Amino acid sequence: MIYLDNSATTRQYDEVNSAMLSAMTDTFGNPSSLHRLGLASEKAVKAARADIADAIGVSPAEVYFTACGTESDNTALFGTARAKRRTGKRIITTKVEHPAILEPCKRLESEGYEIVRLDVDGEGFVSADAVADALKEDTVLVSIMAVNNESGCIMPIEEIGRRIRAYNKDHGTGILFHSDMVQSFGKVRFNMDLIDMASFSAHKIHGPKGIGALYVKKGVNIEPFLLGGGQEQHFRSGTENVPSIIGFGTAARKSSSEFERRTKAMENAKQRLLSGIKDRVDIIRVNTPDHDSACSVLNISFIGTRGEVILHTLEQSEIYVSTGSACSSNHSSKGGSHVLRAMGLKPNEVEGAIRFSFSEFNTAEEMDTVIEAVAAAVEKFRKLGSFR
Ligand code: PLP
Repeated sequence: MIYLDNSATTRQYDEVNSAMLSAMTDTFGNPSSLHRLGLASEKAVKAARADIADAIGVSPAEVYFTACGTESDNTALFGTARAKRRTGKRIITTKVEHPAILEPCKRLESEGYEIVRLDVDGEGFVSADAVADALKEDTVLVSIMAVNNESGCIMPIEEIGRRIRAYNKDHGTGILFHSDMVQSFGKVRFNMDLIDMASFSAHKIHGPKGIGALYVKKGVNIEPFLLGGGQEQHFRSGTENVPSIIGFGTAARKSSSEFERRTKAMENAKQRLLSGIKDRVDIIRVNTPDHDSACSVLNISFIGTRGEVILHTLEQSEIYVSTGSACSSNHSSKGGSHVLRAMGLKPNEVEGAIRFSFSEFNTAEEMDTVIEAVAAAVEKFRKLGSFR
């Protein structure tokens, strides 16, 4: 099997599996219980929080566990809207965000919020100037992802943060800056000083599915989404998912301590696949920029084919890729990927798009196999005239 759908989800590290198993069999107490078993769980959650905070580059008290990246995004948006409802109702985001941002924005719009969805250029980048130009005194939040899950492009997050801070200083405003960092975590490092909130998800870094985190900078107050027993410093009630939190902490620790080795392995796989495909297949459009893009993503349109057909052909050789984001297959995506359309791709370019996404486990030999399989699949379908 050759797995190239790591932006959808990753295989759990063996260390994650054993840490989780031990949490389920030994450390199964409720962290809120006062007895020894409870305290052991509380200690394990504390250690995981410290590992995740360290990997992000923030302090442990600024990390709150959630059920997934989607919950982190929803909490940032609804929590800010609630906390600042008397300050303003303008929220700035982009057209290429994940549905976990776009859908809450739609809901807020229906409740009277003004949502500004910024354009991206042909390479997928939003410009910091465009963000700065859109800021107004009634803006409460800017939410812009760090790495796009389909194109892989790295947004100018730090520059955007600087612009927002400068605006706040000049105008006496308190506009918050949130970034969906689900796809950048473990691949691209950012200075978190200028970012007020950020979303993370364990299953993109070889941790378990169904556990996420929201970073909220000290001093930033947003309203909690879940109310109840007061866990997570009253910010996110609900008994902690201890095995998954421990798995998340283990994955974060490994992905951070082996950052250089892991990202280099991904970049090598990406570059080998890209140059091989360029050599072997003509009439393509590379949708991932050749600068400022994450090592984990390579998106290519094979003009004159249907991405979905190529995907299923590769699947027969146990090669797993994606046509876009896994989440957008459940999302109403009339006309194909909203990201590629926002980048200005023509319908046939959107239709022929394949996303290859890498992990440290991918090898050069695997890439050579994939190059041949892709070349054969594209040639076959172009010959058959299965395209329009
Ligand atoms: N944000 C981005 C950019 C993603 O790629 C994803 C998952 O694909 C999410 C948010 C949602 O994360 P989760 O699957 O943990 O809810």
